[in-house]
Amino acid sequence: MKAGGTVKRKRSFETTAAQAGVGADRAYGAVSVPIYPTAIYRYDAFGKNRGYDYSRAENPTRHAAEEALAALDGGSRAVTFSSGMAAISAVMTLFRAGDHVLCSDDLYGGTYRLFEKILAGYGLRFDYVDMGDPAAIRRKVGRRTRALFIETPTNPMMKIADLRGAAAVAKQAGILSIVDNTFLSPALQRPLSLGIDVVVHSATKFLGGHNDLVGGVVVVSDPSLAERMLFAQKAVGAVLSPWDAWLLLRGIKTLPLRVRRAQESAMVLARFLSSHPFVRKVFYPGLPGHPRAVLHASQADGPGSIVSFELARERAVPRFLSSLSTVLLAESLGGVESLITHPATMTHSDIPPEEQAEVGLTPSLVRLSVGVEGVDDLAEDLAQALRKAAGK
Ligand code: PLP
Repeated sequence: MKAGGTVKRKRSFETTAAQAGVGADRAYGAVSVPIYPTAIYRYDAFGKNRGYDYSRAENPTRHAAEEALAALDGGSRAVTFSSGMAAISAVMTLFRAGDHVLCSDDLYGGTYRLFEKILAGYGLRFDYVDMGDPAAIRRKVGRRTRALFIETPTNPMMKIADLRGAAAVAKQAGILSIVDNTFLSPALQRPLSLGIDVVVHSATKFLGGHNDLVGGVVVVSDPSLAERMLFAQKAVGAVLSPWDAWLLLRGIKTLPLRVRRAQESAMVLARFLSSHPFVRKVFYPGLPGHPRAVLHASQADGPGSIVSFELARERAVPRFLSSLSTVLLAESLGGVESLITHPATMTHSDIPPEEQAEVGLTPSLVRLSVGVEGVDDLAEDLAQALRKAAGK
């Protein structure tokens, strides 16, 4: 409460995003944060520096990006890394041989690859469960379980986890809850506010937003977890460069605008695709037919802009993908350009076909990341490629 009895209003998300980095330059008041491409910092005297000594540990541009990222996700500290996978790897340094981590049963293929092909070799154990079913999660939490690792919506099946339910199970069991929030970004979902302990993002996607940087971030509320992430950043050394930190700050400024615009178009395209005769099924939590649309709406501010869908015939997939021209065939998501991928052979190719099939990931499935182009251009492009794929 301010003097005079008025309650101090919290700044809106848009203001926090637009002013990311403002105030970080105390030397000259630069509105755009300066890029500090320095590895080292001179000591003023023995034992006396200005808070920085070596850029693997600290860098002013990176620090400004971390302050902005912590504010967006509502955490006390954000710690950045050279990629989303480096961020997830840093979180995994919290665990030891013999520890068990329970994961969403549909995960980004690179995360699955890290868990099963690298960390399992160090004695960590991973199991998979439907994170939308708190009772099923509870049944799978055992004596050695140390954490839940959740994606929601999942990549690429757009399955929805119950974030409040999962956080409650984790609290009761005394284990950590971790959410990969890449698909929605803090503009649409802030898991820390729902009781989740750790949020990770591939900053390569919505946060950067322009397909011009690779980066990752971990955001936490608990100061002791923040210390452990900072230690992992310094000890492992997969740090975000000052150039990429600056690009990330610039991307963040328009995050709410880009996300809102892309989401509006995604809604239009999801409806168009779901009524198309050559599309078998659309997976998008903004459609009323999505089995967990209501749960999703209870924990997120919108369905986002990733739409997965199955073509009517698997054999038509190569023709469809090669016929698109405005929508780019490329392996990413969350940028201003619309991208499409074929998860079975591209982003998720490290997951054995039997396990892909178990979660419903078929070779007919494609994943569309809607950008900010004119929606009519995107609809027209999808329509002409579907026509060709159908042999018309
Ligand atoms: N998490 C999700 C959900 C992703 O889709 C990706 C990449 O596609 C990652 C993590 C990994 O991020 P990066 O490519 O920045 O390492």
